[in-house]
Amino acid sequence: MIKGLKQIEHTSKGKVEVFTLDDYGKSEQDRSIYVAKVGSGPVKIWVQAQIHGDEKLTTGAVMELLKTFGSNGSKEVKTILENATIYAIPMYNPDGSLMNTRTTTLYDESGEPRKDNRGRNMTIDLNRDWAENGFAAKESLAVYKYWADVKPDYAVDLHHQGLKTVYGTNYSTSMSLGVSLAPNGPTLPGIKGGLYNDLTRQMSVYVYDALKDYGHMHIDRYQTGSGEKRYEIDIKGGVVSAMMIGLNYDNINPTGHSNPAIFFETKGNTRDGNLGQKSNGHLEKQNYLGLKALLYGLATDEVKQVDPDRWEEIPAYPLAGYQTDTGIVPAGN
Ligand SMILES: [Zn+2]
Repeated sequence: MIKGLKQIEHTSKGKVEVFTLDDYGKSEQDRSIYVAKVGSGPVKIWVQAQIHGDEKLTTGAVMELLKTFGSNGSKEVKTILENATIYAIPMYNPDGSLMNTRTTTLYDESGEPRKDNRGRNMTIDLNRDWAENGFAAKESLAVYKYWADVKPDYAVDLHHQGLKTVYGTNYSTSMSLGVSLAPNGPTLPGIKGGLYNDLTRQMSVYVYDALKDYGHMHIDRYQTGSGEKRYEIDIKGGVVSAMMIGLNYDNINPTGHSNPAIFFETKGNTRDGNLGQKSNGHLEKQNYLGLKALLYGLATDEVKQVDPDRWEEIPAYPLAGYQTDTGIVPAGN
């Protein structure tokens, strides 16, 4: 990936800037976290991929996008780059990526894995580590400090999920669109007078509209559980939740900066081995197209023209309730 980024930077002739977050910190295993910055517009958009180390197609999609931004002179790309600046972290969890694990492993000062009281390596889900009692992993603090400096206007977080089908159909879901603090749920409507409750739904609908007419793309809403009724997540410990809440950990974000964020969940994990070579191309392409569309919509403010209530048009299972950090909250409470 590093070689790929440097190549993109080189061929872009300065359009794409590539640098590390070493000044903010490195990973637990002392690897650098890379950022690619492109565009010169006032709308700051944060893109992060592979916070879970076994979710690799997301990185490929970001790399494709950076390549396009570095070389392509299309009107769409020009519009994005004139109106927005993109801050992309193609691989948030480099250690996990090399280990092909969702989590990362914590290390002590002597460079040995930290052990729990049963002698096992201590691992941590980086996507639960932006919390008042979190920041256990060095990379969490490094990226959080950088986020607090950048103060983005919007964020998008790229993931993979297991296999599911679109409600009421036999179609295998190729991508789910989600918000880590559920729209119309227990938390989001109370933030900024409901502004992010609208913006996150508008962002989701905008991506849905951009992808829904492609033949083999079957998009739905991200939900958890199995069976006829499912849950939406409302987790305050998630990284992009902390962004929406405006977490001020250790006085690193004293102004309480916050921004709306959505996530993409692409079908399949590399861990599961259920991604045949043949299917990878169109899934990566789907991420790429969805991301490019969203960046255009945010750069031009077109996203704000969307009716947020159309979020209900994105296919979803009947809602049983919300999966929160402290348990299930039934729907309608
Ligand atoms: Zn993930």
